[in-house]
Amino acid sequence: MTSGSLAGGHQPKRLIVVGSGIAGLYSALLAAEAGAEVVLLTKGALADSNTYLAQGGISAVLDEPAPGDTVAAHIADTLNAGAGHCDEEAVRVLCTEARMDIAGLGRFGVRFDLDDDGDPSLGLEAAHSAPRILHAGGDATGARVAAALIKTVLDFQAAGRIQVIGHAQVTSLIQDGELYQDVPGRGRVMGVNFLHEGREMARYSDAVLLATGGAGQLFAQTTNPSVATADGLALAWRVGAEVSDLEFFQFHPTCMVRAGDALEAEENTDPLLISEAVRGEGAVLVDATGRRFMADYHQDGELAPRDVVSRSIALHLAALGDPNGHVFLDATVIEEQRGEGFLEKRFPTISERTRQAGFDWSREPVPVAPAAHYWMGGVVTDLYGRTSVPGLLAAGEVACTGVQGANRLASNSLLEGLVFGRRAVEGFLGSADALPLRANSAAGGLAFTHAAGTPPAAEATTALSGSPAPLRMEGASAGFDFVPSAGFSRNALRRLMTAKAGVLRNGVLLAEAEAGLDSWAEAVLPLSAPVSLDPRVHEDANLLLAAQLLVRAARERRESLGAHYRSDGVAEPAAVDDFDKRYTMSRKASLIND
Ligand SMILES: Cc1cc2nc3c(=O)[nH]c(=O)nc-3n(C[C@H](O)[C@H](O)[C@H](O)COP(=O)(O)OP(=O)(O)OC[C@H]3O[C@@H](n4cnc5c(N)ncnc54)[C@H](O)[C@@H]3O)c2cc1C
Repeated sequence: MTSGSLAGGHQPKRLIVVGSGIAGLYSALLAAEAGAEVVLLTKGALADSNTYLAQGGISAVLDEPAPGDTVAAHIADTLNAGAGHCDEEAVRVLCTEARMDIAGLGRFGVRFDLDDDGDPSLGLEAAHSAPRILHAGGDATGARVAAALIKTVLDFQAAGRIQVIGHAQVTSLIQDGELYQDVPGRGRVMGVNFLHEGREMARYSDAVLLATGGAGQLFAQTTNPSVATADGLALAWRVGAEVSDLEFFQFHPTCMVRAGDALEAEENTDPLLISEAVRGEGAVLVDATGRRFMADYHQDGELAPRDVVSRSIALHLAALGDPNGHVFLDATVIEEQRGEGFLEKRFPTISERTRQAGFDWSREPVPVAPAAHYWMGGVVTDLYGRTSVPGLLAAGEVACTGVQGANRLASNSLLEGLVFGRRAVEGFLGSADALPLRANSAAGGLAFTHAAGTPPAAEATTALSGSPAPLRMEGASAGFDFVPSAGFSRNALRRLMTAKAGVLRNGVLLAEAEAGLDSWAEAVLPLSAPVSLDPRVHEDANLLLAAQLLVRAARERRESLGAHYRSDGVAEPAAVDDFDKRYTMSRKASLIND
C-alpha cells in the first residue's frame, strides 16, 4: 500500500476501526498512512487486548527462511492443523503475504529478537515443520508488538492523522435505513453508537472495521482478558452479517486456576497460561488425589497434542463428577531433577505470576484447567475483510476468513490479523462499495437450517482422537448437573458453557445448553442492543447471543472435527466433502429470530 494513495483532490474516506489489538492498530495505521480519516475506538485502554498477552510469536516464512523452509510448507502445516476445514485460497494468501506485513510492522517500530548473526531469531513451535516463529522480548511478543504499534498510533494522533477514543465501547452499528429498504437487515453500515464517559455517542463513517478480537469470556476458564466478550460477533449478527465455524473453539490445556474456588468469582481477570514448555521440561498432571492420569488417556501422556491433553483433562474431571473443577500441574519434579532455582531461571514470568497468585510452584502443584483460548469461527469475510453487509469489514480473531479451519496452527492468529487487516484497508481504499464476495460461503457454504427440537443424538461410547484405546464418557450426565436457573448471570453462563459446550460435547449436553440459553434469552433479549448505559449489560447480552450461536453450530455438526469434539459423534467426517462443510448462519436464515 503506498502512502498518500488518496491524494489528488478527493475527499478522504473515513474509516472507523473498532478495537486496539494487532488487527485494529495495524489497519488503523495503514489507513491513516494512505490518507484516510481514521477514528480508532477501543473499549478499554489501548493495551487491553488478547494481542498484548500473546507469548510465542508470529509465524512467517521470510525472504531468507530457515534452511529447508518454504511458503508451501507453511501452507501445508496450516492446512494440516485446520483438519481439512481451511479455505485454501485464504491460507495461500496468509502464508504468501506474511513477509510483507512483517516488514510493515518494522515500519511501525516493531523489533523482533535477533540471533547472534543479527538475523531474525526463528523459533520452532508444535505442528510447524520448520522454525519460522518470530518473537520479541522472548515470550513477551504480544506486549512488545502492541507497545510499538500503540506508540506509533499515539504519534499519528499527535500529528492529527488518527483520532483515538479510548474507553469507548461500541454498542451497535448504525445502518442506513434508506438504501436497501427492500433487503431487511442489510442496510449499509455507516457508523457506530458507543458508550463513553457515561454517555451514548455516535460517529459516522464510510465503513466500519470490526477488530474486536475473541470471546474467551464465554467459558469459566479462559486465557483471554476481560475485554474478550464477543462484542464484534454480536454487533455483526444484529445487522444481518453471516457468521461461520462457530463450533470450533480452541482450548489450552493448562491455564492456572486461582486459589480457592475460582469459578465462584465472576471472572478470572488475570489469566495465566502455563506454557507447554513446562510439560516439555517434565512437569506432570495429577488429579486431586495426587494420581497421575494422562497415561490412561494417551500413550504420550502429558506430551500428547494440545487438544488431546485438554480433552483428557476434561474427560477425567467429568469421570470424577466435577466438570467445572481443576487438576494440578506438578512442576516440583523438574526442580528435583534439575536442581533448586531451575524453574525461576527457565520460566521467570510464570514463577513470578504463580508467586503473585500465592503458589510456590517449585514446592507445590499448581491448580490448572483447560481454558478457552482462541475462536476459529467468526464473522464471515472475503479475502478483503468484507462481510456480507455493505460497509462492514472485519479482521483478526473476530473474523472468519477460513485460514484457521477447525483448529488454529500456533502463531498464525497474530499473522491473520496483520495480513487480513491490511487487505481490509486495501479493499476499503479501493472500493468499499464492492459487493461482498466469499468464495467458500457462496460455493461450499451451507445455509443454517438447524431445526429446533431436533432430537439429540444418543449418548455413545467413543474414541478420543489419537488415543490408543476407546474411552467411555463415564458419569457424563452425573457430572453435568447444571440446572438453568431463572436468573441469568455471566458466571452462570460461563459455567453452563464449560459444562455443556466446552471441551467435551454431546447431543444431550448441547440440547440442555440450548434450552438453558434460550430461557435466559427470553428475559435478556440479546437480539437487540440493550437500552442501557452500563457497559457490562451490553457485554452480557453479547455473550449470551454468541453462546446461543455457538451451541447451535455445535449441535449441527454431529461429527468430531478439529477442536470440536463430540463424544457421541463419529471420529471425523464420513466424506472428504464433509471436511469443507461450513455451518454459516445469518440472522435472516436462522431460527434465532426476533
Ligand atoms: C495468553 C494468550 C497467548 C497467545 N499467544 C499467541 C501467540 O503466541 N501467537 C499468536 O499468533 N496468537 C496468540 N494468541 C492469540 C492472539 O493473541 C489473538 O488471536 C490476537 O491477538 C487477536 O488479535 P485481534 O486484533 O483480532 O484482537 P484483540 O487483540 O483481542 O483486540 C481486540 C480489541 O477490541 C476491543 N474491543 C472489543 N470489543 C469492543 C467494543 N465493543 N468496543 C470497542 N472496542 C472493543 C478490545 O478492547 C481490544 O482492544 C494468544 C492469545 C492469548 C490469550
